[in-house]
Amino acid sequence: MIRIIEQASELNSLVNATKKTGLSVGFVPTMGALHKGHLTLVKKAKKENDLVIVSIFVNPTQFNDKKDLDKYPRTLENDLVLLKPTSADIVFSPSVSEVYPHGDLIGADIDLGGLDTYMEGAFRPGHFKGVAQVVKRLLDIVTPDRLYMGQKDFQQFTIIQYMIDKLKMDTILVVCPIIRETNGLAMSSRNERLSALTRKKAGIIYRTLLTVKNNCNISSIVELEQYGMKRLAALSPFEPEYLTIVDGNTLTPVTDIAATNYAVACVAVWADGVRLIDNIILKKEN
Ligand code: AMP
Repeated sequence: MIRIIEQASELNSLVNATKKTGLSVGFVPTMGALHKGHLTLVKKAKKENDLVIVSIFVNPTQFNDKKDLDKYPRTLENDLVLLKPTSADIVFSPSVSEVYPHGDLIGADIDLGGLDTYMEGAFRPGHFKGVAQVVKRLLDIVTPDRLYMGQKDFQQFTIIQYMIDKLKMDTILVVCPIIRETNGLAMSSRNERLSALTRKKAGIIYRTLLTVKNNCNISSIVELEQYGMKRLAALSPFEPEYLTIVDGNTLTPVTDIAATNYAVACVAVWADGVRLIDNIILKKEN
């Protein structure tokens, strides 16, 4: 039986008691409206830890668009049904005032080393300050040994790794692969807001990323980015916001793939009033 906890102090005491007995704690933060992508994170956490905590909290401070916050799906009952087979132990489902008892401006100023200025950060001002704020607060409450996040949100996990290192937090970040629908569309809670036809056509995003990857040793960066933007813009109702090839560590634009050891193509596309993001690693050398 999954236990539901709403109070931060109750969860924190339970984790402390668990860790004192030598058991490990894995943590999967989510905003709910769970799908298979979330569930793979939970299953991996369960394999690697004794106690697994999943948080379900729609964090208002990371929404730069109030309409997006209002429309964000909230499906707690169904989420609990989906979590059952994963054997997650605890769902932490706090209220906004439980997460931000001293107001939501406190802790919104974590230094993110400028990583929050590119791509999503450029188009969604304040978004990553809110993400870092909530993840820091949740990590302080949960104090997990391991934190599980998806590659789907490439910039997000890069920023959280930076924050963990910078604040010398005692948590290992585990990044999990992108889970996709059968047509290649990266699973997302926001996909539910697409029309059936748009959702079907949205496989174009992944197909475009695959073509960029297949050509990344023969075409220039400018050619690859222009090709991707044009191909996406050509199919209604898709409106690409950016398709950028960046360094996977610094998130700065790459000018020559051969000269970098970690390159990733990141994309953001609007369709049916929904913003979809995806990425593909073009090259990663140790
Ligand atoms: P969210 O509920 O959208 O905030 O996502 C919670 C976590 O699930 C984040 O670490 C996401 O990167 C991860 N996630 C979301 N979608 C996917 C997916 N399709 N594949 C893998 N991980 C995902």
